[in-house]
Amino acid sequence: MTRTNAGERDAADRFEQWVAPRASLVVLQPTTLCNLDCSYCYLPFRRKRQEMSVEVAEAVAASLADVPPTHTTEVCWHGGEPLAAGPEKLAALMEPFEDLRRAGRVRHSLQTNATLINDTWCDLLIEHEVSVGVSIDGPGDLNAERTDWSGRPAFDRIVAGIGTLAGRGIAFSLIAVVGAGIGRAAKLLDFLSSLGPTSIGLNIEEFEGVNAERTQPTPEQARTFWTDVLTWSAAHPGVEVRELDRLGHYLRSIRTGGRQWWESHRFDPLPTVAFSGDVVLLSPELAGIRNEHYGDFLAGNVLEQSLDDILDGAHRLRYVSEFLDGLEACRATCGFFDFCRGAQAGNRYFENGRFDTTETNFCRVSKQELVHALIDITQKEQKT
Ligand code: SF4
Repeated sequence: MTRTNAGERDAADRFEQWVAPRASLVVLQPTTLCNLDCSYCYLPFRRKRQEMSVEVAEAVAASLADVPPTHTTEVCWHGGEPLAAGPEKLAALMEPFEDLRRAGRVRHSLQTNATLINDTWCDLLIEHEVSVGVSIDGPGDLNAERTDWSGRPAFDRIVAGIGTLAGRGIAFSLIAVVGAGIGRAAKLLDFLSSLGPTSIGLNIEEFEGVNAERTQPTPEQARTFWTDVLTWSAAHPGVEVRELDRLGHYLRSIRTGGRQWWESHRFDPLPTVAFSGDVVLLSPELAGIRNEHYGDFLAGNVLEQSLDDILDGAHRLRYVSEFLDGLEACRATCGFFDFCRGAQAGNRYFENGRFDTTETNFCRVSKQELVHALIDITQKEQKT
């Protein structure tokens, strides 16, 4: 593409400075439907069955076939509930990626509530070597916000699905939304680790999408939570907690001279391909959202353009450009930038209504208070 003027060139250069030229992770939405109705869910169309066509999957696979063969792309099947598409449909959507997967250029992952897992699904997951992430918020009382559309708790079905995965030898990670469990970190982690995951992710409940009315955990609660998580983790060194792992990775990298790598690490553009082929960038939560100022957040459609061409024009999008302004403001003003790298685009938009802002409750509770908790523990240990 020819860049026509200096302003255009500057915008493209700035985008390249902050954002990686190609995606390491592409999120695909096989269906908008979810069989559950969690009270904090941000997905606007989760009651509606709108399914991805095989043509959309073929278009994404064709885009990834154009990427240099040394680059591996993770294709993450995300919903709605991806398993609500049914095993035959998901198998048909995965088929166009088979040559790339066998060549090691694509690997599949799936984020699921596990309630629909059965042996047919396990066969498919094994055949396509899918990395499985299961969403569960803790033992029954901490998982109470996860119900089906008739209000029945989903807990027993989630645990049964995890049991089926484990019985077939399929490794899985767990992700918990931490709301009610914010004051009970040890109980939460004891339970999650007892299920035998490869790692545990802890997402403190966020304000995003249609989940805009609820009370968010406070920074004080988050600091106590992370202190308890760090203490628990020190007593259970064999269990990987994703957020602590990231912090440890950062600390190791600056201690061992890898700071330059960390500093030059660019954002993944994170294309999310909706069922229709429409693409949003930076945050999957922007799919299906409209706003007067930003329009529909669409960067393109894979039925009309390759992913590379879509990314090539991304610097022209208002929300992308404002997000880069936000990153520059974070770098200029925030003492946590070094570790945080500017956090999530979706959180800025859903909390502050814009992308060119800095602090959000998300970054306070998920990044800043984690670092504060570690400092608290370190100082306490130095005094004893
Ligand atoms: S902690 Fe918040 S304000 Fe600081 S760099 Fe991260 S997103 Fe920006």
